[in-house]
Amino acid sequence: MNSLLNHRDQHLMTMKLLSALGLEKRVIKGIGGVIPRETNLYHNALGALPLRKGEIWLQNRYNGILVDRLIRVYESIHGDITSDKALSPEDLCTVITSYLALYPYDNMNATRIFYLIKNIKSGAQNKGGVVNVESEGCNTCGQKYYIHPKLTRNCSACELEKEAKKDPSIYEEIRRTIYVEGTNLSNVRPKSLKLSDGVVKILKQSSEREKSLPRSGESKIA
Ligand SMILES: [Zn+2]
Repeated sequence: MNSLLNHRDQHLMTMKLLSALGLEKRVIKGIGGVIPRETNLYHNALGALPLRKGEIWLQNRYNGILVDRLIRVYESIHGDITSDKALSPEDLCTVITSYLALYPYDNMNATRIFYLIKNIKSGAQNKGGVVNVESEGCNTCGQKYYIHPKLTRNCSACELEKEAKKDPSIYEEIRRTIYVEGTNLSNVRPKSLKLSDGVVKILKQSSEREKSLPRSGESKIA
């Protein structure tokens, strides 16, 4: 088979998967280089959460944990999230499927993850965006974290965990927003997390496809 055709098929599969995961149609059109009727049929096929872009949700301090998780998932796969290195739809798909597999009950979805990465990258380049990352690392756990206006000394998980030791009702509040294993917020370590079967299946399929195909020039997200 012609390798160009092969790559095009692979790309179309990625765009269909992103659409099935609920990535906004406008974004699919903007990054994908595919015609809408090729992907629209799949939109939200996996029962994704409703559209959650914008920044208002970031004002809830518990949501800082979600951003920290995204930073760490992203960096474990692609390195520095603040770099101006372009991200292909294929790379975006890997971040989204990995995040959703590790934290299936979080209030996150494909569209939110896309805009967060975009905001972090453009903010880092313009020196002062909506979502700023503390690259020096958290005082307690040492990992990079999102600088929340209300929680700035440590990452959100460490800061809130400290508070919750004094006031356990904080755990209950946090549970309404994010997935918390047991009563411990330090679940940025994925070991003990439950994986959603559907997403694990998708992850396996994408990593097999990835292995079988050569990487070449693709459309990029700024
Ligand atoms: Zn920390």
